[in-house]
Amino acid sequence: MDCAEIRPYLEPYADGELGVDAVVAVDSHLAECAGCREQVARHRRFRELLRRQLRETAAPELRARVAGAVRREARRRVTPWMAGAAAAALLALVVGLRALAPSSPPAAVAELVAKHVAFSRIDSPVEFAATDGAVLRDWFRERLRVGVTVPDYTPAGIRLLGGRIADTDGRPAAYLLYEKGRTLMSVFMVPGEVFAPGRARTLSYHGATYYEVDLAGQRAVFWSDRDASFGLISALDEDALLECADRLRALRAAEPRA
Ligand SMILES: [Zn+2]
Repeated sequence: MDCAEIRPYLEPYADGELGVDAVVAVDSHLAECAGCREQVARHRRFRELLRRQLRETAAPELRARVAGAVRREARRRVTPWMAGAAAAALLALVVGLRALAPSSPPAAVAELVAKHVAFSRIDSPVEFAATDGAVLRDWFRERLRVGVTVPDYTPAGIRLLGGRIADTDGRPAAYLLYEKGRTLMSVFMVPGEVFAPGRARTLSYHGATYYEVDLAGQRAVFWSDRDASFGLISALDEDALLECADRLRALRAAEPRA
């Protein structure tokens, strides 16, 4: 496997979230690739930094509240590495990224799509399981020290699974995971980052502008406001994603600035 194929798995690998077969595959690549070893080391430093910030800055009362709510799931059972549909999807992702090179979406968005696909391949994609948006907001606030908007999409039949902090180029991104039926939807928020639209399609919905790209069988709708960039990634249809984006945008506009 080459670097492009291995890369989406390096974060789950560093976090100890892959099954035995996947670990063996990543290990054998790392033995021969200094670049990917550096990626793993970088992700471990990033995690350590987050942990240190948490120890140093969390208010005891908030920490206790979050600790009480933590239901960190048991470590995953062995996932068949690259089996069936997973192999096809990852291959499609890699081929898709290459085929799209001349009119590529922003690198940051392609990276988020790769993460969405990789995280959906592990048994439990969330780092912190929460069905209550307020609990998840506290968890993010403690770790990222920014307010993360957690929309309630249950009226649309989309339920919250939990969250994760993902490393996007050394920058922590809040990653919310939802599910409609068996279809996953990721909502990313990258503080302080503005995504360039690249060659994405421009859409207008309820008076707001969004960008859209199709990649690896997934659809990504993204936009930036003055503090952060957002991306919704799923195989759900465009109308559903725009509706969810609109709801997130409206909620965010209504929230006091943190
Ligand atoms: Zn490599």
